[in-house]
Amino acid sequence: MPKLNENYQNLKESYLFSEIAHRVAAYSQAHPDQKIIRLGIGDVTLPLGSLAIQGLHAGVDAMASSDTFRGYGPEQGYEFLRNAISEYYARNGITVDPADIFISDGAKSDTGNISELFAADNTILIPDPVYPVYVDSNVMNGKTVTYLSGNADNQFLPMPDRSIAADIIYLCSPNNPTGAVYNRGQLEEWVNYALENEAVILFDSAYEAFISDPGLPRSIYAIEGARRCAIEFCSLSKTAGFTGTRCGYTVVPRELVFKARDGREMSLHAMWNRRQSTKFNGTSYIIQKGAEAVFSPEGIRQCQENIRYYQQNARMIADTLNHKKIRFFGGIHSPYIWFECPQGMESWEFFDYLLTNAQIVGTPGAGFGENGRNYFRLTAFGSHENTKEAMERFHRLF
Ligand code: PLP
Repeated sequence: MPKLNENYQNLKESYLFSEIAHRVAAYSQAHPDQKIIRLGIGDVTLPLGSLAIQGLHAGVDAMASSDTFRGYGPEQGYEFLRNAISEYYARNGITVDPADIFISDGAKSDTGNISELFAADNTILIPDPVYPVYVDSNVMNGKTVTYLSGNADNQFLPMPDRSIAADIIYLCSPNNPTGAVYNRGQLEEWVNYALENEAVILFDSAYEAFISDPGLPRSIYAIEGARRCAIEFCSLSKTAGFTGTRCGYTVVPRELVFKARDGREMSLHAMWNRRQSTKFNGTSYIIQKGAEAVFSPEGIRQCQENIRYYQQNARMIADTLNHKKIRFFGGIHSPYIWFECPQGMESWEFFDYLLTNAQIVGTPGAGFGENGRNYFRLTAFGSHENTKEAMERFHRLF
C-alpha cells in the first residue's frame, strides 16, 4: 500500500469557488427568471488584442512547414520572448537580464512550485488575506507558515516585524484580493528587511499592468538591492487576457546564492533551472509567439486599452461604494475592489444577501484568509453594461 503525502490532510477545504457555484446554481434553479450578474471570479472577459492574435497565427503557420517547424523548445523559454520581456521591463525603467527570465505556462504553477526549492524548517511569511496558492503549496510540502496580518489599520499592506527573523516572504502587489499596492518606500523597507535577514522575497506582480501611477513600483526590481533578495513572478493572464491562453514568467536573478548547511554555495537560479528542466518541457512555441507580440510597444498599447475598460468598471463600483459610505480598498491600480461587508455581516452571509436581494455574485473574503471574514471582493472584469446594472441594483440595497 502506498504511504501517502498526509500533508494533504492539513489543507483547508478548497471550497470557495465550488461553494459559490453551488449556491448560485441553487438560487437560479429556484428563480429561473432572475438575471444573475457575476462579479466574482477573477477572470478576464475581453478578447485578445489583434497583435497577440497575429503572433499566435504566425506561431501556428511556422508549424506547417519543415523549415520553420519547432519541436521541443528551450525549457527556460525562447530567447525572442525573454528579450521582449526584458525590453518591456526596460521601458518601465527596470533592468532585468533576459538570462534571468524563465517562461512558464502561468504564475500559478511557478508560485506553487517554487516552494520545492526551500527546506521545511524555514520561517515563511505569507500575508492574510492573499491569493491562496502560496499557503496551500507550502502546506502540501509539510511546511508551516506565519501569517502577516493585513487589515484596515495597515491598509491591507503588512510591513516587516523586526522581532521575526524571516527566511522566505511572499508579497503580492497589487494584491489579490484587496487591490492594495505597496509604494516605493514600503517595498524599500521590505527589501532592506530581507537583506538584513538574508531572506528571499517571493514577489507576485501578476497585476502590475493595472498600476497607472508612474510613482508606484510595478516590479520588486524597481527597488535597489532587490536582485540580491527577490524572485519575481508575473503573468500575461491579467496583462494581456491570457487566462485561457496561458503564459507567465519568473525572474530568478543569478545573484541569489545562499549557503547550504554543509557550507557549499547554492544558486536559486541554478536550482530553478534544474527543477524546470527536470519537470517542465517548456511553454508552447505558438503561445510564446503570441506573448512576444504582446510585449511589443503596440501590443502593450492594446493591452492597456482593455485594462482601461476594466478600470472604468472599477470606478463605477468605487463610486457606488463611496455613495453608500462603505469603506473599500483597491479598485484604482487593481481590478479588485475589497470592501467591508455592510451592517456587520460576515462574508458568506453578505454573499447570500447580495445574491438574494440584487442577484449579484461576488467573492466572500473568508476564502482568502481569516482576515477576510468580514470583507467582500468584487471584480472589474465584467462588461460595462453588467457592471452598471449591478451597481444600480447595489444602490437600491439597504
Ligand atoms: N498570482 C495572483 C496573485 C493571481 O491572482 C493569479 C490568478 O488569479 C495568479 C497568480 C495566477 O495567474 P496565472 O493565470 O498566470 O496562472
